[in-house]
Amino acid sequence: MSIENILLEIKKRETFLITTHINPEGDAIGSSLALAIALSSIGKKVSLYTSDPVPKVLSFLPHSDMIRQVKVVDERFDAVIVVDCGDLERVGFLRADNIPAEILINIDHHITNTGFGTLNLVTEAVAAAELVYQIIKRLGIPVTPEIAICIYTAVMTETGSFRYSNTNRDTFRMAEEMVGFGVNPWEVAEHIYNRNSMGRIRLLGQILANLDVSDNGKIAWVIVREQMYQDTGSTKEDVEDVINFPRSIEGVEVAVLFRESNHNWKISLRSNGRVDVSALALEFGGGGHSMAAGFFIKGPLGDVMKKVITRVEKTLPL
Ligand code: 5GP
Repeated sequence: MSIENILLEIKKRETFLITTHINPEGDAIGSSLALAIALSSIGKKVSLYTSDPVPKVLSFLPHSDMIRQVKVVDERFDAVIVVDCGDLERVGFLRADNIPAEILINIDHHITNTGFGTLNLVTEAVAAAELVYQIIKRLGIPVTPEIAICIYTAVMTETGSFRYSNTNRDTFRMAEEMVGFGVNPWEVAEHIYNRNSMGRIRLLGQILANLDVSDNGKIAWVIVREQMYQDTGSTKEDVEDVINFPRSIEGVEVAVLFRESNHNWKISLRSNGRVDVSALALEFGGGGHSMAAGFFIKGPLGDVMKKVITRVEKTLPL
């Protein structure tokens, strides 16, 4: 789907609901806020709703307080725009048979995206924010420092601070442009990395104390039980990026995070490049990118671990 059709629809419509996925992270919040601020600046009426709250670490982003948590929507809009979300169920509060608008615009960068929109802009961009930036530019909307910090934060977090394999020339070009529009990289880094709570550090200690590795050293995993949040005074937001510890062990091909979530298990997978974990996540009904993917699974922890680790073992390179 070409971007032109989306630009046309945005131009001719007035009221928008912008949303993103459950448990939103930097790209989800940054790209939806950037789009909301930009569309508001040209006189559009924008509501920004999510299922889950903005993580504390991202609350420094301008207008993050405009993001409202909802379970259902009883208003109607000219268009619903979903950003950074591979399938509609991951929005949480929207149902395919009850979209509160005439059209649904899907802006995403996950290869596993189901193409659920009336209009879909789905490409392998570094971050959903890259696509949002293209839309903002093509609409001729001036990039204010407020828009720029949202886009910069999205791109920075989605690339693990310009370390992941999705980092390329365009990524740095975009970051450079955002700095040109007024972003201070140090300020963003301070907010993202130097505002840890004691609870998060204690939680990290508990998680890492139980880190485990397969006999051949190629799979490493960590487990987060809900009880651990109470024990350490932390929240589920504090688990963000913890999976990078098992992933960072030399020789590890795939890292797995088993996270208890409302009597379910949320599984995160990270690859170090040789295994496509998005294909694996798809098999379990989830999705993501080749090097970062996830899914939900039910069952007792022992069974879940056996199922997932056995499946990961089968994908390992010899
Ligand atoms: P995380 O492990 O950090 O939750 O997610 C890693 C990547 O996989 C993200 O790009 C995320 O959007 C995607 N992902 C995680 N869980 C799911 C899921 O249940 N369904 C789909 N479609 N994608 C997921």
